[in-house]
Amino acid sequence: MADNTEAVTMDKIVSLCRRRGFVFPSSEIYGGLGSTYDYGHYGVLMKNNIRGRWFRTMVQERDDMVALDSAVILNPKVWEASGHVAGFSDPLIDCRTCKLRFRADRLEDAHCGKRPSKRPGETPDCDLTEARQFNLMFETQVGAMEDGSSAAYLRPETAQGIFINFKNVMQLARRKPPFGIAQTGKSFRNEITPGNFLFRVREFEQMEMEYFVPPDEASHWYEYWLEQRFQWYLDLGLRRDMLRIREHDPEERSHYSSGTSDIEYLYPIGWQELEGVANRGDFDLTQHTTHSGTKLEWVGQDGERYTPHVIEPAVSIERIFVAMMVDAYDEEVVADRDRTVLRLHPQIAPIKAAILPLVAKNEEMVSKARALQGELRHRHMVEYDDGGQIGRRYRRQDEIGTPWAFTIDDQTLEDDTVTVRERDTLAQERLPLSGVRSWLEDALERPWVSPKS
Ligand code: ATP
Repeated sequence: MADNTEAVTMDKIVSLCRRRGFVFPSSEIYGGLGSTYDYGHYGVLMKNNIRGRWFRTMVQERDDMVALDSAVILNPKVWEASGHVAGFSDPLIDCRTCKLRFRADRLEDAHCGKRPSKRPGETPDCDLTEARQFNLMFETQVGAMEDGSSAAYLRPETAQGIFINFKNVMQLARRKPPFGIAQTGKSFRNEITPGNFLFRVREFEQMEMEYFVPPDEASHWYEYWLEQRFQWYLDLGLRRDMLRIREHDPEERSHYSSGTSDIEYLYPIGWQELEGVANRGDFDLTQHTTHSGTKLEWVGQDGERYTPHVIEPAVSIERIFVAMMVDAYDEEVVADRDRTVLRLHPQIAPIKAAILPLVAKNEEMVSKARALQGELRHRHMVEYDDGGQIGRRYRRQDEIGTPWAFTIDDQTLEDDTVTVRERDTLAQERLPLSGVRSWLEDALERPWVSPKS
C-alpha cells in the first residue's frame, strides 16, 4: 500500500466535506456569506458524536459535574461585569486601497488584497489605517424598541452563563467545591478575519466547563485538567505527535489568570489552538458579585466561606472537527486503485456500519440485510446501501469513515453468516448473523489507534 499522508491540505478536507455532504458553504444560492457553513447529514452525525463523547467524559462518567444549558441572549449587564463590553476586542486595520480588513496582531499571516504574495503594508500601494479596537460581540435588540435601552448581545462564549448560575446550581444540585458545571452551545464572535474553513468562524459551538475549587487547590486542578483534556484527544485517536501543550507567557495571559495553556494541533496552517485551559482565579465570580449584588461564594456548615477559584477547559466542536478530519484523512493505492479513507475513531465516525446485500436484485439477500439494519439501527447509526458494485460501495463508506461493513452474500443464505470488512486493514472475517449486534457493540468500545501513527 502506498502512503500519502503528507499531502493532507485544508483544500482536500474542504473538498471531501463538500463532496460527501459533511459541510458546505452557507446561503450558497444567494452567493454565500463569507466563512459561514452549513452541516449536512454526515457532518451533523459527526458533530453529535464529538459533543456526545465530550459530555460522556465530562459529565456522565463523573460524580463532580452537572450540566447546564443557559440562554444565548443574557442581560447585557453580564457582559459589562465580565469585561467583554469594554475589552473583548481585537485591533483592526483597514486598507484604503484594497478595502480589506486585517487583525493588526496577525498581519504576518495575512495577504495583501492586490498582491496576495505580499503582506498588508508591503507594497507601495498599500494604504493602511491606524489600528483601532473592534469589539467582537454581535449586538442585537430585544423586543420591538430599537433604542439603546433594549440593546443586547449574542453570547461570545458560554462560560458567563455558567458563572451567573453558580448559586442556583450549588444550592439545587447540592454541590461543594471542587465541582464543575459543563455546557455546550452556540457562541458568536464577529471575527475580523474568519477563515481556514471551520477553524475560525463567526458562529460556532463551544464546549466549556467551569470547575470551582478551593483557592489553595487551584494550581493542582489546573494541572489535572490540562492532563485530562490532553488525554481525551489521545483516547479519541488523535496522533500524539500532532498535539502539543503550549503555555502562555505572562504577558499573553488575561490579567486575572495565573496560568493558561493551549492544547495545540498541527493543522495544515501550522500549530494552532485547539483547546484552551485556563486558571481564571476568582475573577468571574467576584465581578458578578460586585455587579449583581448577589454573593457568589461557598459557605460551609461550619461558617467557612470563600470565593472559589475557577479552572476552565474551553473548546469548539469546529476546531475538533477539523483536527479529526486532518488526522483521519488518508489516500492510498490498493490493488492499483486509489482509495480515499477517513480513519476516524469508530465512536466519532458518522456511520458505525454499512449493511450491504451483495446482489441488489436478490430478494433473499435484501430481506436479510434489511432485517439486520432493523436490528442495529435502534442503537447505532448504520447505513443500508444496495446501489452499484460492491467495490464502489466499500469506497463510498471508506470516504465517510465507516469503520465496518457487513456484507450479506451467497454464503449468508446457506449458513446465516456475514462478512465483516474492516475499513483500516481491509481484513475480512465471517460472523454469525445473530452475533453481529454484540460484535459491533464490543468493537465500538475497543481502544483504537490511528494506523497513521
Ligand atoms: P483565538 O486566539 O484563536 O481567537 P481565543 O483564545 O479567543 O481563540 P477562547 O476565547 O479561549 O479563544 O475560546 C475558547 C475556544 O473556543 C478556543 O480554544 C477554540 O476552540 C474555540 N474558538 C474560539 N473562537 C473560535 C472561532 N472563531 N471559531 C471556531 N472556534 C473558536
